[in-house]
Amino acid sequence: MNAEILAVGSELLLGQITNTNAKFISNQLSELGINVYYHTVVGDNAKRLEEAITIAESRADLIIFSGGLGPTKDDLTKETIARHLDISLEFDEVALTYIEQFFAKRGRSMTENNRKQALVLAGCEVLANHHGMAPGMILTKGGRTYILLPGPPKELEPMFQFEAKPKLGALLNAGGVIVSHVMRFYGIGEAELEVRVQAILDTQTNPTVAPLASDGEVTLRVTAKAETVQEAQQLIATKVAEIQALVGEYQYGVDDDSLASKTVEMLLDNQLTISAAESLTAGLFQSELAEISGVGNALTGGVVTYTEEAKINQLGIPKQLLDTHGIVSSECAAAMASAVKQKFGTNIGIGLTGAAGPTAHDHQPVGTVWIGIAIDDEEPITYLLHLSGMRNTNRLRAVKFTCHYLMQ
Ligand code: ATP
Ligand code: MG
Repeated sequence: MNAEILAVGSELLLGQITNTNAKFISNQLSELGINVYYHTVVGDNAKRLEEAITIAESRADLIIFSGGLGPTKDDLTKETIARHLDISLEFDEVALTYIEQFFAKRGRSMTENNRKQALVLAGCEVLANHHGMAPGMILTKGGRTYILLPGPPKELEPMFQFEAKPKLGALLNAGGVIVSHVMRFYGIGEAELEVRVQAILDTQTNPTVAPLASDGEVTLRVTAKAETVQEAQQLIATKVAEIQALVGEYQYGVDDDSLASKTVEMLLDNQLTISAAESLTAGLFQSELAEISGVGNALTGGVVTYTEEAKINQLGIPKQLLDTHGIVSSECAAAMASAVKQKFGTNIGIGLTGAAGPTAHDHQPVGTVWIGIAIDDEEPITYLLHLSGMRNTNRLRAVKFTCHYLMQ
């Protein structure tokens, strides 16, 4: 099954709002293993909407509409689809009662155009709207499936997830199941990862393998269809093993794992304590770890030493070391890591120093970051990064790389 998402709304074309509904729906469809080939946006205009529907029908067997189900004159999605498919509109009693009660409760009188919201395509399955008035619809005709969803994301998202998706899943695989598994990677770029697993991407059928990159991380979603959950899991396990043989060294987690959660898990499993001295990240490393509950048994504390004076006064780093090697240097990161480890009496000390941008710092180009990791009595290890993002992206990347190296 391949899909097209057709978002209706002149505000989208005018640049007043972003098409987050298409993003959301695409994401959800990938979990079902459905390919989305097109995102279309059309204004509140019946003629152009009908043209867009005709085009969508020529290239997709699932068409998902967002927007235009409301009470006003410019809301014309279902009317246009009804005309196009030659289907009548009829009142859905449940939706009508819901709308009447909504107005009665507020002591407001209901206008005729509010009743209009309870009109649905004859023969469709109605998707309940628990966060607004206009119901959604799912309809199969001429071998195609049409899903109509309201525009406001707070209505569309739960409706898709809890009403449409299960119906779509059942339709897709009558009697079967769809299971999806996410593999998470760090320390490898999207392009390189794709090149390495190219043969798998080129020949995928069931399971499907979909790459996604965001915030410097890369994920592969492996989705299998089968008669039973066990069979689907078996298909996934085989595919995961093939992928791991190619890029396994970069995988840090699965599904909802994050670099921070895996780092905390590693520290707790090994009963290790940690502290950090942060310059460019100014506490971000500790803050990211602190999002994970239970971290109190591992994270002891730390310092923000942003200026040269703070590094000297708070950590006791010799001025001469900074004069000789610079603040953005391997030596400084190592000294920060050792000093904070000592200060807090932890197993591990982290030192983070660098030039986040937008201007060079300490004669080092923007994006130069040194990470120092001191463990017990061993010589501190340092890592050099050359990051290419904006200031705050670089700060976050520095934190993520610290987690990545800690888990090596
Ligand atoms: P309503 O009953 O609120 O009129 P509707 O189903 O008629 O809902 P629209 O009138 O098209 O939907 O859009 C209502 C609001 O929903 C828009 O003003 C916008 O805030 C939001 N919205 C619409 N389409 C999208 C979209 N594609 N992505 C994100 N938000 C959207
Ligand atoms: Mg509207």
